[in-house]
Amino acid sequence: MSILTIVKEPDPILRKKSLLVKEVNGEIKKLMKNMLETMYAAPGIGLAAVQVGILKRIIVIDISGESSQKKPFFFVNPKIVWKSNILETKQEGCLSIPGHFGNIKRPEACHVKYLDYDGKEKTLKADGLLATCIQHEIDHCNGILFIDYLSKLKKAFIIKKLTKVQKNQE
Ligand code: ZN
Repeated sequence: MSILTIVKEPDPILRKKSLLVKEVNGEIKKLMKNMLETMYAAPGIGLAAVQVGILKRIIVIDISGESSQKKPFFFVNPKIVWKSNILETKQEGCLSIPGHFGNIKRPEACHVKYLDYDGKEKTLKADGLLATCIQHEIDHCNGILFIDYLSKLKKAFIIKKLTKVQKNQE
């Protein structure tokens, strides 16, 4: 396994729509394992393939945190098939937007249809942090970032800061 480079805002690839995966083959499984390792190393609780520069609809999530029992989820072609009408505000961050956070309102529960690590079709009923995380990562597959839900002013401020960081690294 290897650790991949995480793409940061304002890289234009983060605004592109990811494509459906045709088949969960060895190459896709290898990518999912590398994504998981990259996410754990960051550390983070969710990562979409576009965040490592690959425009495929794949996300990995593990919200088990510090607990020694890891509980990774692999979602290929995830699609939300139901959303709760009840909205909940939670603080979100993003590995592509390091050092910045925002309070985002999203449905507190959702059902997601996807292919698992073995390519089997599954439906997961998620709520709480897992539901938030799934919605955040599926947004990535559609070129949407959490800062898009913030005020124009706050979003512009964060992009300006990140652009400065990137210029300093060049
Ligand atoms: Zn993110």
